[in-house]
Amino acid sequence: MKKILKSAVLIALFSAFSPVIGGSSPQRGSPPPPGPPPILVKIGEDLHMIQNPQNVVSDIGAYGGNISVFLTPEGVILVDSKNERMHDDVVAKVKSLTDKPIKYLILTHNHADHSGGAAKLHDIGVTVLISANDRENMAAQSNQQALPEIGYSGQAVIVMGGKEARLREFRGHTRGDTVVYFPADRVIAMGDLLTTHEDIPPIVNYGDGGSWTDWKKSIDEILTMDFDTAIPGHGPAVNKQQVRDIRNKMVAIQERVRALNREKKPQEDITQILVKEFNWGAGPAAGNIAGMMQEFR
Ligand SMILES: [Zn+2]
Ligand SMILES: [Zn+2]
Repeated sequence: MKKILKSAVLIALFSAFSPVIGGSSPQRGSPPPPGPPPILVKIGEDLHMIQNPQNVVSDIGAYGGNISVFLTPEGVILVDSKNERMHDDVVAKVKSLTDKPIKYLILTHNHADHSGGAAKLHDIGVTVLISANDRENMAAQSNQQALPEIGYSGQAVIVMGGKEARLREFRGHTRGDTVVYFPADRVIAMGDLLTTHEDIPPIVNYGDGGSWTDWKKSIDEILTMDFDTAIPGHGPAVNKQQVRDIRNKMVAIQERVRALNREKKPQEDITQILVKEFNWGAGPAAGNIAGMMQEFR
């Protein structure tokens, strides 16, 4: 097997997954009854995504976010892992596409709906990568059971079976989001830097080092890349123009918050205005507004 891992700074951090706390599942509380289970969606000849068909927030707890499945003659590269309890379903879906083993798991960021399945995949021999920045985020979470073996900074590339997956690190949703570019397919997997369904709006996670200012810079840089299709962290795949539209909407929201801040509008008024004008600011976005007001002061 030919593999090259190249990066500006490639840091091989701890050599193995180290269990931190006993094997308790992260499942807690009583989530609403989940909708229909995730489905396989074909994106390209060698590229599929595993997507929750209803694209609603309540299914994130049950099923996690999107997974990209990249097939090569020597094995499979996954982008994101859903959560731990989806492990068997994810492995079965990959098996329905190929008899080759899963070799690599690239985590777009540290949130459990994307990284929660990593430990079980590692246990079946999968090598797990994440940005060194988000690996630090992960290490800071006391409920995190295991840490990826490899943390990279800036960029990296995995070449396997003559096919390439190029990793680039951006700040936005967290301090070290990974975007994975598949040049042969002209497809990019963006993690939670991009969400595409109105019910699951884009947010940044300030606690994990996210920033709307950097999100805008990152999306603008990503839009210079040569892709036709973007796989988001949540919601259906979209084309490049749709990424541009989402970028423009979020930038308009930022500008609106800046103007309303200047008028010294209280948070409740700003929230109401954003919901009315942009259908953004309720649900998962509600918790983002105080941070946004600070950032755009
Ligand atoms: Zn997510
Ligand atoms: Zn996230």
